[in-house]
Amino acid sequence: MNLEKLEKILKKEPAFRLKQAEKAVFSDLIEDWEEATTLSKNLREKLQKEVPLEIKGRTFVSKDSRTVKAAIELEDGLVIETVLMKHTDKRNTICVSSQAGCPLGCLFCVTGTMGFKRNLTASEIVEQVLFFERYLKKNNEKITNIVFMGMGEPFLNWENVKEAIQTLNDDNCFGIGSRKISVSTAGITEGIEKMAEDFPQINLAISLHAPSDELRGELMPVNKKYSIAKILKSVDEYIKKTNRKVMFEYVMLAGVNDSEEQARQMAKLLKKPLYMVNLIAYNPNGRFESSPAERIKKFKAILEHAGIFATQRYRFGTDIEAACGQLAGKENRPKDNFLI
Ligand code: SF4
Repeated sequence: MNLEKLEKILKKEPAFRLKQAEKAVFSDLIEDWEEATTLSKNLREKLQKEVPLEIKGRTFVSKDSRTVKAAIELEDGLVIETVLMKHTDKRNTICVSSQAGCPLGCLFCVTGTMGFKRNLTASEIVEQVLFFERYLKKNNEKITNIVFMGMGEPFLNWENVKEAIQTLNDDNCFGIGSRKISVSTAGITEGIEKMAEDFPQINLAISLHAPSDELRGELMPVNKKYSIAKILKSVDEYIKKTNRKVMFEYVMLAGVNDSEEQARQMAKLLKKPLYMVNLIAYNPNGRFESSPAERIKKFKAILEHAGIFATQRYRFGTDIEAACGQLAGKENRPKDNFLI
């Protein structure tokens, strides 16, 4: 699918045509231009030829059926991964990728170890959402929440992520409210500033993962440029402008960042209004082990005792390698069994 091309073709038509076409694709979820009966037959045929609506994707469903991973093949053959998480309260969250691979190389993340391939276009980001809207439509369900926590660092591809968010927001397209969308960053402060300007209602999450620069620098090379103090200063500015809560993500690595002393350090660092912490059980992929459940419980209790709001994320889709830090685009090779 190439939605940039759609705009180009419809530029020659009256302005309302683009609106009609977008509504047909994103809201009515047509999969074939023949279904877009508001458009003339000639135009439908032209679009069929030049902007086909097929999305090449394979799905993998977890044993508990609560997680579905899609491996989506792009026009140039690269494969990206997107994950649907079905919550017990009927929310359907999708975790979207913003880059193919990632240049930041966090040690605990498989995407980071595969290197950086390229930025995704706005259309390729939107396509991931569309894929799962079509998937859910079969059961009369809809996407309720979107998190930019898949492959890549969204603030290193902000212009395209921004354009994609505008389509997600647009009532004529997906109509997903800003407060249902979250962007997670490894701490690119320029991006935090831009987001406060562009989308003050969207949720911000920060991948922190360590209470000191020394340890964070070992786990996340990006810390050399964006230290903890620099990030927190930027977050405080963001809060001043938006008055929104900010979530700090903390992956629990056994014997690395999960001691009681480190929990106390975290508590000291993050004891501020509108700061929240989300503890993530690590999904082992060779290099580290996940902290035992008891250790996570203790860590959380120390934060809570210090007055910090802390949650623990449910582990989605470990068995299909769809959980945090596991997205690898392993299917980066030609396929003959892609669903079209
Ligand atoms: S954790 Fe995020 S920022 Fe770090 S390498 Fe993985 S995708 Fe990139």
